[in-house]
Amino acid sequence: MSANFVESTHGKRQLNHLGYRYCFKRKNQSSEYWVCVQCKATATTYLDLSVVVRDDHTHLPDDTCAKILEIRKSLQHKSTAEAGLIDRIVEEAYNKANRQSSCTDLLINLPPLYK
Ligand SMILES: [Zn+2]
Repeated sequence: MSANFVESTHGKRQLNHLGYRYCFKRKNQSSEYWVCVQCKATATTYLDLSVVVRDDHTHLPDDTCAKILEIRKSLQHKSTAEAGLIDRIVEEAYNKANRQSSCTDLLINLPPLYK
């Protein structure tokens, strides 16, 4: 299985490998060095995305967090795209409302804000 990189909630790059998550530790010339977020197991990733795990984990794998992060990431992309769309819709609606004279009447008929 090749290396799968995820982004943590703090925007830090993490390695997700076989259900274990690793924090980025340091970068070497042709590899990157990672340490498990839950124990002292380490992993090295290479340019071809191969992963070598050095130590045994003291716990069971848990990829729930990584899955959540991936879902969060895709949702972020979606909401960003839709936010742009909403802006356009609001602008169009605003321009349309400004063109309608009845809209001005409506504003005048509204109760005053300050008494
Ligand atoms: Zn571990």
